[in-house]
Formats: sequence, C-alpha cells, structure tokens
Amino acid sequence: MNNKVDISGLLPRVDKPARYLGGEANASRKDPAGAAVRVALCFPDLYEIAESHLGLKVLYAALNARPDVACERVYAPWPDMGDLMQREGVPLFSLETRTPAREFDLLGFTLQYELCLPTVLHMLSLAGIPLRAAERGPSDPLVVAGGPLCMNPEPLWEVLDGAFLGEGEEAILEMAEVAGRTRGQSREARWEALASIPGMYVPARFQVTHGPDGRVAALRPVAGQAPEVRRRVVPDLARAAYPTSFIVPHLQVVHDRVAVEIQRGCTQGCRFCQAGFIYRPTRQRPPDQVVALAEAAVRSTGMEEWGVLSLSAGDYACLAPVLAGVDGRFPSRRLGTSLPSLRTETLTRELADLAGRVRKSGFTLAPEAATDRMRAVISKNNLEADLLAAVDHAVAAGYEQVKLYFMIGLPTETDEDVRAIVGLSESIAERARRVNRRVSVTCSVSTFVPKPGTPFQWAAQLDEETTRRRQAILREGFRKSRVSLKWHDVGMSLVEGILARGDRRLSAVLMDLHARGARFDGWSEHFRLPAWREALAVAGLHEAEYLRERAVGETLPWAHLLSGVLDKYLKREWARAQAGLPTQDCVSTTCHGCGACDFKGVNLDTYRRGAGGGLSSVRVTGPAGHPANRGRFPEAATPSLGGPPVERPPAPACPPADVTVQVLRVRYTKSGPCVYLSHLETMAALLRSLNRAGLPVAYSGGFHPKAKVGLSPACPTGVTSRAEFIDVELKERVATEAAWERLSPQLPAGMEVMEVREVGPKTPSVQASLKGLVFRAGLGGLAQSRAEGWAREALASWERGERSTVTRRREGEPDKEVEVRAGVRDVALEEAGGLRFTIVTTRPGQPRPAEVVRAVLGLDEREAGGVPLEKVDALF
Ligand code: SF4
Repeated sequence: MNNKVDISGLLPRVDKPARYLGGEANASRKDPAGAAVRVALCFPDLYEIAESHLGLKVLYAALNARPDVACERVYAPWPDMGDLMQREGVPLFSLETRTPAREFDLLGFTLQYELCLPTVLHMLSLAGIPLRAAERGPSDPLVVAGGPLCMNPEPLWEVLDGAFLGEGEEAILEMAEVAGRTRGQSREARWEALASIPGMYVPARFQVTHGPDGRVAALRPVAGQAPEVRRRVVPDLARAAYPTSFIVPHLQVVHDRVAVEIQRGCTQGCRFCQAGFIYRPTRQRPPDQVVALAEAAVRSTGMEEWGVLSLSAGDYACLAPVLAGVDGRFPSRRLGTSLPSLRTETLTRELADLAGRVRKSGFTLAPEAATDRMRAVISKNNLEADLLAAVDHAVAAGYEQVKLYFMIGLPTETDEDVRAIVGLSESIAERARRVNRRVSVTCSVSTFVPKPGTPFQWAAQLDEETTRRRQAILREGFRKSRVSLKWHDVGMSLVEGILARGDRRLSAVLMDLHARGARFDGWSEHFRLPAWREALAVAGLHEAEYLRERAVGETLPWAHLLSGVLDKYLKREWARAQAGLPTQDCVSTTCHGCGACDFKGVNLDTYRRGAGGGLSSVRVTGPAGHPANRGRFPEAATPSLGGPPVERPPAPACPPADVTVQVLRVRYTKSGPCVYLSHLETMAALLRSLNRAGLPVAYSGGFHPKAKVGLSPACPTGVTSRAEFIDVELKERVATEAAWERLSPQLPAGMEVMEVREVGPKTPSVQASLKGLVFRAGLGGLAQSRAEGWAREALASWERGERSTVTRRREGEPDKEVEVRAGVRDVALEEAGGLRFTIVTTRPGQPRPAEVVRAVLGLDEREAGGVPLEKVDALF
C-alpha cells in the first residue's frame, strides 16, 4: 500500500515550502513497491537541522545500499505546516515518496538533545501512531531511537519500542530485518526480537520500582532478558560504510557543507562531556581515505565547502596534511574548509591558514572554564597560554571573528570563577585587537547540565536563582566591554537537566506536555517553562529532585545501560574532580583503565605525519601494544600508508579573480517541486549543479569568492516557468552542446535545460537585457463556477479602464496600492482558456503576475491565488 500524501494545497500557504519538497539531488529514488522493508529515518526537528546531521546520512546510505530496503526521511513540520496538516487531516509524510509515516515498517528517531522529546510525541501524533508502544497494533511500525539520549531514554520509556545504544550503521540493518520479519506479530513478540539485537534496549522488558522517596529502588529484567544492555561500537572505522553521495539540501541548512568523519571517540576525558565518555574508544580513519571520501563527496554534491567531523579534531595528527590534500584535489575550484572548534593547544598557525584559505568565517575556541583550578576540576587540560597562542594564530591568519565558549555551574564553581570568564575574554579581545582592530570577540556562556555516563552524572545542577545570579555577574562584568555576551536560556537548561537524568515518571509529564501542544521546545519562541512546571506539578514531581546531587551508591535510572566505560572509573574521576585533580589524555600518556578498549577486536590505529612528510600509523593490538606504549613506537617499525602523497599546495595571500574567457546564457525550466524554491534556493541549486557538471565557473577574487553568474529576475514562488535564465562566466572555453550535456543530468527534478548559447563578454547581463516577461494564467478552474463569457466581460471592463490598481498586503507592513496598468501590456484571452499578458521589466515597481490577474479579471486575492500561473517567455 502506498497512499501518497497530497500537500500541493498546503505548500503555497507555508513559510519555506522547500522544507517539504524532497527530490533533492542524491536523494533516494527507490520504488517502495520493490522493497521488502520500508524504513523512515525520523528527525524531531526542522529540515535545516535534520539535514545537517551526519549520523542520519550514514544510516540512510547504509539502508539504501541494500536492494531489499527502501529508506526515506521524515522530519518535523514547522508549526505553520504542522497546524495546517492537523486542521486538514494531512498525516506526517516522508520526503521521498510522500508516504504516510505510519505505513513504514520501522521508524528510527535520532535523539540528539533533550528538548526534542516533545517533538517526538508530536510527530507520532501527526502520523496517527499510538504514542504508547503497548497500545500499538500489529500493523503499526516499530518505533526505535538512537543517539546520545539513548544513554538514558527512560523519560520516553512508554513511547519507544526500542532504544539503541551505540553506533548504528551496522545495527540499523538488523533492525530493518527484524521489522520486516516480525511484521504483523504481537508487540511482545516484536519486542523480544528487537531485544535480541546487541545494543538494543527494549524498555518494556524491564520493570522499574520506585521507593517511598520516589527514587529508583530496583531495575528488573523480564524473564529471558539480560540484566544489562551494552553500548555497541563499530570496530573499524576504516571499514565502516560512509556515504559520499550526500543529499544536496534545497535550502541553506545549519551545516551547509560536506562532512567527513576523521575520528570517532575522544580520550581527552573532559568530565562534563557526555560524547567524550560514551563514544570511546578513539578510532581514526586513515588520512588517505579521508581525502578520497572528501573528494568524492565534493564532486557528487557540488557543495562549496567541506569540513572534518570529530569530537576533538586537533587530536588527529594528520589534520593539516588532510586539509591540504583535499585542497590540492580542487586546484581550480574555490572550495571552502570548515574546522570544528579545536582544543586550544592543538590549533597551529598552519591549521588556521589552511582552514581560512577560502571563505574565512569565525574561529571558535572552547576554553569552557576560565581559571586553572576550574579547568583541573573538569579535566580540560589546556593552559591559558595555549588559549592566547591559539587566538594569536587565528588572528594572524586573518580571522576577524573569535567565538569563545564557556560554561557556568560546573561542580565546585564559585563567583570568582564566573568573574574570571570576563577577565579572560577581555584579555583575549585586547590581545587580538593589538594585531587587528576589527576583530570581534563573542563570549557564549551556557549552563552546565550533568549528563548520564559521565563522571559528573552525580553532580548537582544550578537552580534557577543561582543561574540567574551568576548570569547577572557576567552581564555586569561585560557591561562596558566590547566583547559580546550571549547566554543560554535559564528555563531551557533546567528542563534539559530534568530530562537528561530523568526517570520513568517523566513519561507522564511528556504526555501532559504533548496534550498542551508542546513541540519544538529547543526553539526559544516555542519553549514555555510555565507549561513544563505545571506538567511536573500535575505529576507530583519536583524539579529540585531532578537537579540535586546524586549519592554515589544510589541506583541511577540508567544503571542497566552500559556505555563501556566502567562505573568504578566514573566514580574515580568524580572523586578526582572534587579533589581538583585532572586526568591526562590516555592516548598521549597511559591507559587509565576506563574499560572502553578491548585491545582485541577494535582497530585502535592512530595516524601521524613522519619527519619526512610520509604518513605512518601506530597500532595498539594487545598487551604488547598497550596504550601505555603509545607514542613510543619507532616510526620505522610502523607500516607506511598507501595512496597518493598528501601535500600542501602553496597558499596565495589573497586569491585573485578568475579571468572570464566565455559567457554562456542558459535557458531552463522550473516545474514540479522546483517552483517552490525561492530565488536564493534556485541560485544555490544551479551553482551546485554547475559544480557537479564540472563546468569551469569563474570566481571573483578574495577570501569570500563568488561565482560569476547572474540570474534572471526572481520567479514568484509557485509559478512554473519555461523562461528562466542564468548567465555563467567560464574561465575555460566549453562548447555549448557539451555544457548542455554535462549540466542537464545534474539539475534537480523539475529543472530542465532548454537552450545554451554563448553571449559576447560585453553583452549586458540577463537582468539588464530583459524587456518583458510573458505569463499565462490558466482559467479552467474558475470557469467551472462562472457564467460563460465571464472572462471576456472582465477583460472588456479592464480595457475600458475600469480597474488599474490592486492592494498589496504583506504581514507586518501597511497595505500598498499597486499600479498595474502601466506595467502590463499585450493582455489577451487565449482560446484554450488562458489569459496571456506581458509584464514590462524596464520600469520600476513592476506588478506581480497574480496582481495582474486580479486587476484584469477583477478577482479578489483568494480567487487569484488559486489560478495557476506559468512564465512562458522572456523578451529581450
Ligand atoms: S581503556 Fe585505556 S586506552 Fe582505552 S580509552 Fe580507556 S583509558 Fe584510554
């Protein structure tokens, strides 16, 4: 069964309809009828956030690589769309085939942050799927989740059929197999099958009892269920599936670039950092593989920027050669490079230079704490001198925006530690401005939230009053400063903290919140602290109970979920934190016995650059290669990596502009989903298509180069067109037929090349050459409800001059009278039931095509809104 959801009536009424179109370049085009199992990867947030998430892309590629599986994407609709869907009974749907979400066999949610939980319930409700797993029937999909929140998914225990602990690129195939094999069986049978997948926690197979104080007293598995679930790790990153044909989003997303994961896990051991503990052990991808993956991904997407992904990218010793190597693969393209925030002691001038060669954006550094004492408590092993040196490197490399991240509320923090954030930020700003007076410094301060699976899982979280008082210290400190201060919403941090270490009792709170309409709580405009507090009160729960320090012997709600790091190690680290003792990174010093490495099955190779510039790896394979010996292996004894040498190309100080040798004018169509792309979105889609086609587009010079292209005037959203144009300047000559052939297959569905011709280099741009645009309005829909000849009469009245203006209404702006008559000519009715007219483009204040239809035919805005419009020609 595949009942396609029709959203054509909703798209013209929502903000950014491109969020719901699907059909992007590299999106799956599988026919679901040919698949044995259908999986929907669900992200409980907006398209722009979801499309920035790498994990989802990895799973999407792994599933669609299987011929018998069809995997699609389902994202949360923004409230304007969600409200319309609810009002008009349109169910939650997938982007690829607009299939209702409830028709999939498996829904896999990614849970990245606590405040997305109400959106999970909202999505299930929109899909028409029972919120409680126990109430789902044999035809309902299995609902599972993955992501860091699964280290403690207890607040969602009633909702999830399963929560997967760990890295899912292998396990997702096992989940799909179970979903297909157990289709139609009872929930209990499906739960049992799910629970057989290593790493899968099935909440219904555990009973939790609470003591008289409300705290967890016991966690008991049902008969046949193992008492603990252990997080699953991909043993060898070099062999793990990794996508290169990334979906090219229709609109600008948060991380609008190709990302290559260079390393997984981090052993720095910052005690507040959940990722640093639950993603252990550190595994690295070979440098030549990173370069090859990045090259393939940039070519297959046409994206303008790429970046490495890692928790602590500076620990990847081959980072600089990798950046240089990728740069060297695209000598004629202006490929930008993005670095994640680096530990200060790992930022070198070489890295700053390499990352800032093209599209230099802000530089982010995360000291987290401003005093040596506080840094020892959190085990952030950098020094103030490292931080200042890092700022020097960034500013010397030409960066003019420096972003600093700090936290307040860390264990043992005093007001003095908070004031020190002001002092340190000021020193950084002063130092940076001595070199470049234009440097701006932003200091972002979040409130520490203790997370499960870390040494700070026992720590207290700041209450509202103390948080506000400490934020006031910062505001006062920065009052006369040129450093900009940003801080995290107090209420959001409180709720994050409640959910992060929450227990099963919070399920009632989430259900209540859902009934109150909660969704998108991670967005300040939709977050309502009073609603959370009311829901907690209704459930008889107190926020102080969730924010309090936990006793080390207490049964924590997630005690049966094991990350791989030993409980005794976390306790030891918690004790060392309270004593103000840092713990050094185990890769560069010695193994501290955290328990994450088995020294057998997991590939723990780390890579480094040798003195001669070649690459080598150090392998830790067993007792003889115990991590205590890391760094002591002579390089001559290590294997040399294959692949082409990775060398840094010479860096020009400021890239010059390309010389244009040819200008091509391309005429193309816009139809289907593409009619909902805005002007900017259309421009981005075309640029990436030109890149994928490998056409040698010329760029302007400087650190923020722009492609030398020019588009015809914006086509109104929702209007199909046979007359769109783009002028493309090339730095090498290409025959027009060859350009046509190369570009055509790269355009997104709904865009088609109609003509490619060469124009002289002195020809005015397409915008400047244009005299008029010819439109056709289809009147078939209106004719059904009107007397014969109505259009002729309306046109006659227009010709008699009875109407010449319409009122333009825009939300938040005063109404405006628009003169239509002076801006339109050649108005005529067609025999086929259409109205044809030309909008003159050489005078200012042109009317819009829908306004012409209103004025000529005497229609109101709503009536004209239902008239299909097509741009049929352009007059030069
Ligand atoms: S087991 Fe040892 S080497 Fe492995 S992550 Fe833990 S401390 Fe580091």
